[in-house]
Amino acid sequence: MTLKSVAVVGASLAGLRAVEALRRSGFDGRIDWIGAEPHAPYDRPPLSKQVLRGEWGPERIGLARGEISALHAELRFGVRAERLDTQARRVHLAGGESIGFDGLVIATGASPRRLPGQPDLEGVFVLRSVDDALALRDALARGPRVVVVGGGFIGAEVAASCRQRGLDVAMVEALGQPLEQALGPTLGALFADLHREHGVDVRTGVAVAAIEGERRVERVRLADGSVLPADVVVVGIGVRPETQWLEGSGLELRDGVVCDGTCAAAPGVVAAGDVARFWHARYGESMRVEHWTNAVEQAEAAVATLLHGPAAAKSYEPVPYVWSDQYDAKLAVAGRPRGSDELRVVDGSLEARRFVAVFGRDGRLTGAVGMNRMRKLMDWRQKLREDLSLDEALASLTS
Ligand SMILES: Cc1cc2nc3c(=O)[nH]c(=O)nc-3n(C[C@H](O)[C@H](O)[C@H](O)COP(=O)(O)OP(=O)(O)OC[C@H]3O[C@@H](n4cnc5c(N)ncnc54)[C@H](O)[C@@H]3O)c2cc1C
Repeated sequence: MTLKSVAVVGASLAGLRAVEALRRSGFDGRIDWIGAEPHAPYDRPPLSKQVLRGEWGPERIGLARGEISALHAELRFGVRAERLDTQARRVHLAGGESIGFDGLVIATGASPRRLPGQPDLEGVFVLRSVDDALALRDALARGPRVVVVGGGFIGAEVAASCRQRGLDVAMVEALGQPLEQALGPTLGALFADLHREHGVDVRTGVAVAAIEGERRVERVRLADGSVLPADVVVVGIGVRPETQWLEGSGLELRDGVVCDGTCAAAPGVVAAGDVARFWHARYGESMRVEHWTNAVEQAEAAVATLLHGPAAAKSYEPVPYVWSDQYDAKLAVAGRPRGSDELRVVDGSLEARRFVAVFGRDGRLTGAVGMNRMRKLMDWRQKLREDLSLDEALASLTS
């Protein structure tokens, strides 16, 4: 079927790249573009870095490459999609409007998880949107004692930015090391040291028991009985995909919108970015990737599937890639490593904090990580497309 109209739900990274890809591919039909946030699409990575450190204002984080108006889309920003009727091919919006479509791109991303069972106190923040970042930045200007709950990428970046602002920072991670889930215990320990050297009070292997205070947060009580005084608490314990509005639509929802290997969730319906759980044919697993580069690459792939139809659709098999900046450490990870994978340094040294290391599992190369070695890591991302054994990958270093 030739598409006459496409609705794109989600006006951030994946949504924007989808609208751009539609127009770049020559689609000249109607595009209805719906976004819950009132802002034009903006970039999230600087929120935990330059914006939180106070170096950039929100005017520097716009994502559009040119004028949004040049995309000739019908914009509904600041309006939430509340329901999808797949049979009637309509999206129902808050306020009562509904929009018909021939094709649909779902790009509604993810929202931060909150600590269950804790009171709603002033001074407790999550960080996802520019509004979150500005509110947190203002609070940091008023309160010097910060407790970061969670030592994943967001938590670790927030801790670093707060220390760079000269604040008192404690970081609480329930696992043995920060970033352990993504990088394993050896590199986790390296990051724990990095943060401790910069003056962060890193508490590992201990959970938060309670966030306490009268109206404002005053302290965080840990499961080992210790107490951390706090003016500000930032909870960075992961996200959940924004699929609530799709309940009852008939689409399969399982920690994300379930898609096939071409990003299709149903005929004429595709998904991209943090919200999409897609089948990765080469890895033989269903996965959801919560990283910037995937949102960009998957938006392109999903639009190609939408425009060319299932017969011509290509299998989407990315090598995931994420970067993180903490202090002067620039970290990047490619592939699909697990914390339990074998780790081998292939360039530089962990001690110098300038290295590339590769991950292996069952004799296969699963990933590569680089610190302050970005160009070399990109070479490894390329190698990871070749599906090498660990031995072949290591041999390629000398050939
Ligand atoms: C603070 C921070 C720092 C980050 N740093 C890095 C980094 O250094 N490196 C990296 O690789 N990745 C980083 N990321 C991750 C990266 O930003 C995300 O992977 C990326 O934003 C995903 O894009 P998306 O478009 O899929 O989802 P989102 O950016 O979440 O956008 C989804 C949009 O859909 C809207 N929406 C949700 N529900 C509805 C609805 N029902 N109706 C209409 N609109 C809706 C949301 O309001 C939102 O605007 C960071 C993320 C954050 C929050």
